[in-house]
Amino acid sequence: MLHNLGSINLDHFYRVSHLVHPGETLASHGYHVGLGGKGANQSLAMALAGGQVSHWGRLGRQDAWARDRLARAGVDVSHVELVDEPSGHAIIQVDERGENAIILHPGANHGFSRRHRDTLCKAAKPGDWLLVQNECNALPELLECARRHDLAIAFNPAPMSDAVLSLPLEACRLLFVNRGEAAWLTGLPEASDARVLLEALHERLPHTATVVTLGSEGAWYQSGDERHFQPALPVEPADTTGAGDTFIGYFLAALQEGQPITGCLAFAAQAAALGVQRPGAADSIPSRDEVERLVS
Ligand code: ADP
Repeated sequence: MLHNLGSINLDHFYRVSHLVHPGETLASHGYHVGLGGKGANQSLAMALAGGQVSHWGRLGRQDAWARDRLARAGVDVSHVELVDEPSGHAIIQVDERGENAIILHPGANHGFSRRHRDTLCKAAKPGDWLLVQNECNALPELLECARRHDLAIAFNPAPMSDAVLSLPLEACRLLFVNRGEAAWLTGLPEASDARVLLEALHERLPHTATVVTLGSEGAWYQSGDERHFQPALPVEPADTTGAGDTFIGYFLAALQEGQPITGCLAFAAQAAALGVQRPGAADSIPSRDEVERLVS
């Protein structure tokens, strides 16, 4: 079982001609609310891929549908709490080219306490995976507790913030970063060659396996001397929101099944390529059947 302590958000999507400029008021020509949050997306992707995932989350009581949606996909939601607080939510603009810009309000996702951390560390068995992103509070304590309990930590430090730089990243078994996050962590320019970013991450975290995703340019994996490149599939993107989350969920499900790293990367890239051709974050994550049909 993988334990994912992560955000659950309500995503408010606005279709716009272009991403709003400072001082501009822009009319949107489409709107809907969907399930989102990097934590929820990654749990959903992992469950849709056939993985065993238990989600640890907090959600406003009025938004229980979001928990039920995760449960229907096969996520274990017994540790999703309904609370008398506003749910986390995101305001997402998507322009005609599929680019996005996002405002995030953490809400209940920032209400984790020592009790959650201790319960999770006791419920998990040594060797179990713990997945975390950077949308919930209490990360330093959680990572330290997971390290003491010998959990295998997979970390996606997104959205990136300065606080990530002081986390015990060396405690992570696996790190998932996109190009911007890799640049932030290493202090290198974002335009750096991907292999330079990968090498700099490896020097900083020699015992952590790293996946650097590069949008339509694919993804690199490095662990020790082992390195793999996975090209992205050539597709017309409609909305790239959640591409990384789909990639991570599918990668971890394949890893849990015991697939080799190259198989995990290929499965993840196929699922993400299907996802970017559809609007939405959680709504765009394909099922395992759809991914298998793509490659058969
Ligand atoms: P994030 O959403 O975290 O910024 P990326 O944009 O790097 O992540 O995308 C993650 C993965 O999704 C990529 O490695 C690739 O496999 C896939 N992907 C993203 N954008 C595209 C695209 N335009 N075409 C095909 N695959 C894509």
